[in-house]
Amino acid sequence: MTQESNALDPEAVSAFREAVLSKLTYSVGKDPEHAFDHDWFEAIALAARDQTTDRWMAHTRKSYQQGKKRVYYLSLEFLIGRLLIDSLSNLGILDIAREALHGLNVDLERIRALEPDAALGNGGLGRLAACFMESMATLGVAAHGYGIRYEHGLFRQVIVDGWQHEQTETWLDFGNPWEFERPEVSYLIGFGGNVVAVPDEQGKPQYFWNWAEGVRAIAYDTPIVGWRGASVNTLRLWRARPEADFHLERFNAGDHIGAFSELARAESISRVLYPADSTEAGQELRLRQEYFFVAASLQDLLRRHLKQRGTLDNLPEFAAIQLNDTHPAIAVAELMRLLVDVHGYGWEHGWRLTVATLSYTNHTLLPEALETWPVGLMERMLPRHMQIIYMINANHLDALRAREVHDFELLRAVSLIEEDNGRRVRMGNLAFVGSHRVNGVSALHTDLMRKTVFTHLHGLYPQRITNKTNGITFRRWLYQSNPELTALMVEAVGPQLLDDPENRLRDLEPFAEDADFRHRFAAQRLHNKRLLAAQIKDTMGIEIDPHALFDVQVKRIHEYKRQLLNLLHTVALYQAIRADPGGNWVPRVKILAGKAAASYYQAKLIIKLANDIARTINDDPTVRGLLKVVFIPNYNVSKAERIIPAADLSEQISTAGLEASGTSNMKFALNGALTIGTLDGANVEMSEQIGLDHMFIFGLTAQQVDARKRAGEFNAEASIIGSPRLSEVLSAIRGGAFSADDPGRYTGLVDSITWHDTYLVCADFEAYWQAQLEVEARWRDADSWWRSSVLNSARTGWFSSDRTIREYASDIWKVLPPTEG
Ligand SMILES: *Cc1c(COP(=O)(O)O)cnc(C)c1O
Repeated sequence: MTQESNALDPEAVSAFREAVLSKLTYSVGKDPEHAFDHDWFEAIALAARDQTTDRWMAHTRKSYQQGKKRVYYLSLEFLIGRLLIDSLSNLGILDIAREALHGLNVDLERIRALEPDAALGNGGLGRLAACFMESMATLGVAAHGYGIRYEHGLFRQVIVDGWQHEQTETWLDFGNPWEFERPEVSYLIGFGGNVVAVPDEQGKPQYFWNWAEGVRAIAYDTPIVGWRGASVNTLRLWRARPEADFHLERFNAGDHIGAFSELARAESISRVLYPADSTEAGQELRLRQEYFFVAASLQDLLRRHLKQRGTLDNLPEFAAIQLNDTHPAIAVAELMRLLVDVHGYGWEHGWRLTVATLSYTNHTLLPEALETWPVGLMERMLPRHMQIIYMINANHLDALRAREVHDFELLRAVSLIEEDNGRRVRMGNLAFVGSHRVNGVSALHTDLMRKTVFTHLHGLYPQRITNKTNGITFRRWLYQSNPELTALMVEAVGPQLLDDPENRLRDLEPFAEDADFRHRFAAQRLHNKRLLAAQIKDTMGIEIDPHALFDVQVKRIHEYKRQLLNLLHTVALYQAIRADPGGNWVPRVKILAGKAAASYYQAKLIIKLANDIARTINDDPTVRGLLKVVFIPNYNVSKAERIIPAADLSEQISTAGLEASGTSNMKFALNGALTIGTLDGANVEMSEQIGLDHMFIFGLTAQQVDARKRAGEFNAEASIIGSPRLSEVLSAIRGGAFSADDPGRYTGLVDSITWHDTYLVCADFEAYWQAQLEVEARWRDADSWWRSSVLNSARTGWFSSDRTIREYASDIWKVLPPTEG
């Protein structure tokens, strides 16, 4: 895509070429004659980083001079992906770089593919944090992201014989050219030990925490550059190191392994990302990770604040701390500890500052995903924090009793401590009580938060819950991943589109009626489909027809996301085609990708089923040219950037009420795919923006799902008897039609959805089948399909993460003027 309106400035081209050569020589230590592609990658990245760094310093200086309020985004996950094209594109030097490298006989496209994905997150939650970092830099919100510099990000998925296997991801093997190590920015983080109370002069107890074990947190900074280099923020990730390298005396005494045990124990904290985003890890190490990064980040930001302002009295006026899910919720207790025990504030004053500074984003209503920690573990690992949590809870419950709230069941429900199955600390309630704003991530999700998980707390604090519907950064998910489509759009509506896609995308609407434009739009998308088809051919040896309907579901594998429903449709379609191979079928390619949590057996079985079905169908000559199934291994951000621009149909089919927002739904629509989906998460708002005529909405609503839950209606026999198609599909799968090597492999799976269909796969099957028939009818009417496709892109502007960030900035963080409405 051509970003620069004029021809390339030859001086800029040669300056960049010189910069790359200089980096190659003096930083990488290679002669251009002998440089490997990887050396070039590093040299280019370093040259780009220099340009970012100049702006970073200027911008940081300016923001300090202006005394701006700062945002601190605390997240255990940042699913960043690659940064090379992102940086070059946002700096406005992508074409310059391409041209400069061309002169050196280096192909930027080839180099781009060498960068490992920074996969420091599981899925949507971590990707949201990455999109937010980019949008904050674009909007000039002074922000720091804080997280953990995991040595091993999310596992690499390999498929062996159809089954998922997990391998460690080694993204740091060749170093990371984007980061700056800051050995001088380090904090000691305590664990364990005990608390002693010493009376002060007035006889009031002062608490001292004598922790038993110290771990050092070392900062690594990555500059995050906004669109057109507008501003540059910092992503600060912490690495864990032992207090002392190793025990020399023990080593010299002959204990060569034991001498390193503390090192291993300390470093394990930043070793691996937990491979699950919606199941409770239940691991001590996970709690250590959470406290480690929260404690380092809070010490860091308080130090910065004190240096600038000299007092913490005005902390909420100049700092806003956002907790991305409950993973950093221990911040409530840690901030209180720092204010009261370390900085000498009285309890009440400290509490006012804490609540006014913190806010919390909820990402899930699934009960099994709401974090709780055993009181015993908390007392052992963080004894002072446990005392503080008891104190917060006592004050919280006393305040309610003072308001004449005496309902025992209600007090039980809003308590920070769960008493039922062993005593546990409820991190969601802690985050809620300790924050001045609590937000959901789509209108439906926020509504359900008020009615379900937080219904009682909402009754007590009716102003606290607010909605901030998720968004995505269009720079990555349109400009970088789909440059040709972007160029076509710019040609149609002008270059202002790039600076204000939220408003200017709408200018494309009239072009939906322009046959010539529709053709070009379709042709461009065919180009993307060809690229994906070539990649699938190269990596998997499967041939697919770029003219077929690409029907795509890519996301974490989870029962609530209902990949199984998609697979049942696939089998039904297969059987229908086999029964009438000469029929007038729409050729279709089903594309699936996604990782299952390593310990999630059912999800891994669904991956195996997908691969079993794919093998059977792809090998069957009867359906050749009409139906293909591809499971692309190791889904990550880079794969998403290739797959999404090639999709015709976007599968967003979760059981209504269970997907908090979804963000891939937005990425697909932006790139012109039509959505088949339930009224769940942000699909609801998408249907309002895009219009029901241009989506395929089906299935039970959240309300209907809830009614079934209340009535305990999970038996699917009636649905199966009522749908001969479904019963044929289930008996084929159950009978081993796709698993001849192990005919009983799916007996349990089919039985479980028959007798207890928790996610209502069978209940929604017929509606889904009908919606898929509408998809085919629309696909056959190319004018109608491409009109809808153009309108999907044109009407997705509201889902820019710039809009989301502007709402957080004005309503929660108070760093921008209020938004309208
Ligand atoms: C956007 C994205 C997600 C989130 O997908 P959902 O369908 O919203 O769950 C997960 N993984 C990657 C790599 C993404 O880019």
